[in-house]
Amino acid sequence: MSLLVVGSVAFDSIDTPHGKVERVLGGSGTYLSYAASLYTDVRLIGVVGDDFTDEHMSVLKKRGIDLSGLKRVKGKTFFWHGRYFSDMNERETLKVDLNVFGEYEPELPEKFRDSEYVFLANARPALQMKVREQLKKPRLVFCDTMDLWIETKRDELVKLLGMVDGVVLNDGEARKLTENKCPTLIAAGRRIMGMGPRYVIIKKGEHGALLLAKEGVFATAAYPLEHVFDPTGAGDTFGGGVLGYLAKTGDLSFENLKKAIIHGTIVASFTVEKFSLDRLKEIGQRDLEKRYEEMAAMMRFC
Ligand code: AMP
Repeated sequence: MSLLVVGSVAFDSIDTPHGKVERVLGGSGTYLSYAASLYTDVRLIGVVGDDFTDEHMSVLKKRGIDLSGLKRVKGKTFFWHGRYFSDMNERETLKVDLNVFGEYEPELPEKFRDSEYVFLANARPALQMKVREQLKKPRLVFCDTMDLWIETKRDELVKLLGMVDGVVLNDGEARKLTENKCPTLIAAGRRIMGMGPRYVIIKKGEHGALLLAKEGVFATAAYPLEHVFDPTGAGDTFGGGVLGYLAKTGDLSFENLKKAIIHGTIVASFTVEKFSLDRLKEIGQRDLEKRYEEMAAMMRFC
């Protein structure tokens, strides 16, 4: 089964304590679709400007990602500049230029409207909703979000949560969305389930992730890395691994959801080892399998 992804396709400038890069390929839709393409066929929809070259396109095309819904229009591609501190779990946004992404009104090509697996990657909630509304009868729709939308578009975001099956967000966002009223992340996750999604996945950076569903709760550690080079895209590629694996297997049992979370964890662990998509470009099935086995061995205790 293929996975439909909508999100930002961007140029990122990133400052970390280990070095900097300027205008490298990034964006929530880019990272998510690239990660998911390790598992299944991917269709990416979004918008780029005329500064987005054929060479950039070919990075995604090489992975077999269907770009027929990625529009190239006059103007500049979305730009994001972020900086990390010595604690790599903390970052600040130095600049965001929405450019052509600001006015983007997604129009799903007819052939994508019957997509069964869909990830609405980080973008304005109204844009994510517009895509959700054009889907005929999806089997599983997930969305991601960020603190900016919780602060500035809360009502739209809550409406979107009523239209999706699952949401992926980080611990700080879960606390913010529940107005710091929940004593634990589990309580926050349950409250978010009350807003609509039957699956809530809370990412905790180097401390792993939590899955809440009506069947139960699953908690995993992160893959233990000694050095994190650049965390950009970790959350998106986590989502790409989760939904890519679910679309590939078509099995939505709780047991399989747990495996999907481990796949998300593993793909994210590769992402943070280099800038942009550089590490993901190098890996294949054997690398994924090796880390999957290591995670299984690490978490087995009886
Ligand atoms: P992550 O590190 O997984 O949270 O995602 C980082 C990516 O999100 C970067 O490549 C940015 O280009 C992209 N991004 C940052 N801000 C926004 C935004 N407001 N809307 C969409 N994408 C964004």
